[in-house]
This record gives sequence, structure tokens and C-alpha cells, in this order.
Amino acid sequence: MTSLKKSKMIWSELTESISGNRSFLISSHASLDGDCIGSELAMCWYLTSLSKKAIVYNFEAVPQKLSFLDGSGILTNNRPAERFDVIMVLDCSNPKRLGWDGSAAIANSVVNIDHHRDNTNFGNVNVVTGDAAATGQIIYDYFSHLKIDFPASVAEALYTAILTDTGGFRFSNTTSAVLKICADLCDRGANPSAIYDRVYASFSPQGMMLQSRIWSTLAFHHNAAICTMEMPYDLIEQVGATYGDSEGMADLTIIAEGVEVGILMKYSPAQTHFSLRSRGKVDVGKIAKRNGGGGHSSAAGCTMNLPLFEAKTKMLDIIAKELG
Ligand code: 5GP
Ligand code: MN
Repeated sequence: MTSLKKSKMIWSELTESISGNRSFLISSHASLDGDCIGSELAMCWYLTSLSKKAIVYNFEAVPQKLSFLDGSGILTNNRPAERFDVIMVLDCSNPKRLGWDGSAAIANSVVNIDHHRDNTNFGNVNVVTGDAAATGQIIYDYFSHLKIDFPASVAEALYTAILTDTGGFRFSNTTSAVLKICADLCDRGANPSAIYDRVYASFSPQGMMLQSRIWSTLAFHHNAAICTMEMPYDLIEQVGATYGDSEGMADLTIIAEGVEVGILMKYSPAQTHFSLRSRGKVDVGKIAKRNGGGGHSSAAGCTMNLPLFEAKTKMLDIIAKELG
């Protein structure tokens, strides 16, 4: 893990890879969030400004609440047929998380830019630092290193990346450095109140219905130190919502007083995905990793190939042991 501010070498590898190539495919992890999309759009703008060919392809369509960032319709979920010089994988700890196969075959080389501690350094060039609050922060640092000016749309994209990955400036990764960067992004044209409105106050009625059903599963365990919520995947269709409407619910598992670990379980009959949140006593990143997933110490996730009840029992047991 490297502190990027200190490492000009890493920037020069990235710069070389950009200047020495012409076509770039940009992609990010499945379950697209603000950091994925903000980082992708900022990088796409930069490559295009250098007259490079840049396409942003993700496995999924852009979630409705983040579509305001992509006013010109740059992002696609139609996989391109051609080959690229470089695939730039942003905010994605390992290629499996892209959600699609063949990423290595679609380009001659891989540039990996990420802030997940469990990143597997799968690229030919790896710009990976667990110090950054968001991949958008790494891209901001790169643009600062290059001393380039960028338009308000890019400031907005990077601001959204950092806003969402700090949980709206609430998580412990909200440092003074992060806030200074965001202040600069505002000076460059990002509008905090308009962005807040789009990201956090634009639910659809169906999305609110979905959330009310998830709230109704609320339960406390282990002397109320663990809070859980549950969502069967087919509930989304049942209430006419979209997958994106469930985003953010995991963060609500950690807001009750005294709760140390929060768990949102999304399940199908044979599989349970855990979104884990921690207030700090328990490193949920380690727990997720031990169970085939990954993430950060305070927000992580993993999947068990077990039905809800078995998976839940197992996870509660693991966390109860950690809490002692
Ligand atoms: P969320 O719970 O919001 O989906 O994810 C929280 C964090 O954990 C994010 O950094 C996300 O990338 C990571 N994460 C969530 N699910 C998985 C998973 O199944 N595998 C891995 N490796 N990381 C995950
Ligand atoms: Mn991120």
C-alpha cells in the first residue's frame, strides 16, 4: 500500500500508460455506486481531453439516482465488441467484482486504480492506496499532480464519488484532507446542496415501499450490539422497485445506539449476501475476507452459498465471537 502523495513513481507509470496508448475501456465493480460512476466519468473526461478513445462500460445500467452525473449518456452496459489498448478498472478490488468475464481478453493491458485494502493488484499498472476515502480522491490527487484544470461536470462527478464513499461525510474516512478536496471541488463548480438532493433525497415511491418492507425485518441480537435487516431479492420486483432502491439500507443497520455491527442480508433461496457495517470495535473487512468477500474495516460484504437462516446463524455466531 502506498501513500500516493509521496509516490511520483506510481503517477509516472499511470501517465506512461495513458500517453503510450490510444484506446481505453473504463469499467468498475457491479452494484454501481457514486464512486464508480464519478471516477469513471472523471477519467473518461480526462482521456477524451487528450484525444484518446475512451468508452465506459459497466455490467449494469446506471442507477436512476446517479444518472444526473451522466447528462451526455457516456456510460453504457452494452459490452463493446472491439479490443482496447488498455482496460482501466476503477474502484474494484478484483476482476471478479466487475460482474462480467473476459476483462483480461478485451485489452492488451490493465490499469487498476482503487482504494480497497483487499485489492489484489491485478493490473499491469496498479495505483492502489487504502489511504484514500474514494477512488475519486485518487483521481483528484492525480489531476492535482498533473496541475490540470477540469470543468464543473468533472468536479461534480468527483465530489459525488467522495460524498457517497464517505457515507455523506459521516464515516471515519471523512478527514480534513477529504473536506479540503471537496471544498476545492465546490470552487470548481460542484453544488453540494443540489448533489445532496439528487443522491439522498430522490427516492421513487416504489423505492420507499421497498425500504419500508426492509425496515419491517429489523431485529437486534447479542444484547442489541448487532442489528440485522433482510431483503429477499424477489421483493424488488414484487414492489416494482429497482436494485438501486435498496442501496444505503445497509448504513441504517448501524444507526441505533449501542449497535456495534449492522448486517443487511439480501437473499435468494440458496444464497445470502451480507452487507456488513461496523462502528469500529469489529473489523468487518476481515470477517468478509475470511468468508470470500472483501471491503473496508467499517463497511464490507461477502456471500455465502446458504439459505438465509443458516447463513444468518453462521454470521451472527462469527460476529458474536468477535464482540466477545
Ligand atoms: P456494500 O455493503 O455497500 O455493498 O459494500 C461495502 C463494501 O464492501 C464496498 O467497499 C464493497 O466493494 C465491498 N463488498 C461488498 N460486497 C462484497 C463482496 O461480495 N465481495 C467483495 N470482495 N467486496 C464486497
Ligand atoms: Mn469506492
